[in-house]
Amino acid sequence: MSAAILPGTGPNGQPTTLGVMGGGQLGRMFVHAAQQLGYFTAVLDPDATSPAGLVSHAHIQTAYDDAQGLAQLAQRCAAITTEFENVPAPSLSALAAQRPVAPSAQAVAIAQDRAEEKAHFVRCGVPCAPYAVIASDAHLAAVPDALLPGILKTTRLGYDGKGQIRVATRAELAAGWAELKGVPCVLEQRLQLLDECSVVVARGADGTVVNLPPQRNLHRDGILAVTEVFEGNLPPALVESAVSAAKSIANGLQYVGVLCVEFFVVADANADGGTRLVVNEMAPRPHNSGHYSIEACDVSQFDLQVRTLAGLPLPQPRQHSPAIMLNLLGDIWGPCGANPPWDAVLALPGAHLHLYGKLEARPGRKMGHLTLTAATVAEVRANALAAAALLGIAPF
Ligand code: ATP
Ligand code: MG
Repeated sequence: MSAAILPGTGPNGQPTTLGVMGGGQLGRMFVHAAQQLGYFTAVLDPDATSPAGLVSHAHIQTAYDDAQGLAQLAQRCAAITTEFENVPAPSLSALAAQRPVAPSAQAVAIAQDRAEEKAHFVRCGVPCAPYAVIASDAHLAAVPDALLPGILKTTRLGYDGKGQIRVATRAELAAGWAELKGVPCVLEQRLQLLDECSVVVARGADGTVVNLPPQRNLHRDGILAVTEVFEGNLPPALVESAVSAAKSIANGLQYVGVLCVEFFVVADANADGGTRLVVNEMAPRPHNSGHYSIEACDVSQFDLQVRTLAGLPLPQPRQHSPAIMLNLLGDIWGPCGANPPWDAVLALPGAHLHLYGKLEARPGRKMGHLTLTAATVAEVRANALAAAALLGIAPF
């Protein structure tokens, strides 16, 4: 990508349009950020009621590998990004033959595959949990006992803890792999997690890399539940090493776009402060844990996605308010889809409600999120706990 793609009217007299593969909530928030800057948007997603399709100027409603849909998207858009990593890499390559695409098909292909992703982390010198790839009976037989108890994860298509089985013995491992239909998997040693965190970085085509402050994340049942971001959320040594590891991972991919790297915090008697980081996985896109940046930072992760895609400048973001984000899963809707008490929640100072326009609330489904911002950490915690109590979310 050379010259910046500016909002306005393009050489063909048409409004400059940015495209996104995928119409979920991440695509929706990308669309909002792009539109704020004056771009038109196009979303490709097969679902007629996709959250992003509903708010975009154009919605191309085809499969992700539909040649005509892809041709239409390329024809309309000055540049194209993706909002989920399971977009077929060949589709991104086909688009890239015609238009700037960020992140690249090659980077997305690595993030799509846990085995390749881990190999990349190792290449970058960032430690991950001990693991083995299981793609054959011989691999299964050769798994070292030290990896048990472990978590068996499909190498592809997992999200929100789906495609994962906890196994304690070799017999459970064999049964788990059979249950996953013998598809390629990684077995990871189950670590004792003291904490979890993530870092969003954005890298431009010129190699500039900026980051959001590291997020401290609480998962429940394999799904992100709460993200806390403020000074002191994590020990300073961990903050520094998380940022530098995430930047190395992005640089090692010659990455262009927004990348989120998730880490585990584990005990280490030899490390400074008694803890160290282990990288879990990366997402080649904005991430659920970065949503707080919309209200708490002067540049959000979605602004960064627009800027990296359009080749705009990347000033280092600054967080101006302590923030806590609560994920709003379908579980908090009442019987027959009765709405949670939004009016009471919105009475709390600094409450920013985001609902994604999904009509059916199902358990575990990400329906929206709530970000609380305040002047102080004590205030933001008090308001976030009050919101959680109103919504029936367990305290944290
Ligand atoms: P998503 O893509 O939504 O982040 P995912 O389905 O890719 O999730 P992971 O990030 O691999 O899943 O795991 C989900 C959660 O399960 C982690 O955040 C962590 O809480 C727990 N977990 C995963 N791997 C391990 C491990 N090796 N040891 C201990 N806990 C783990
Ligand atoms: Mg994860």
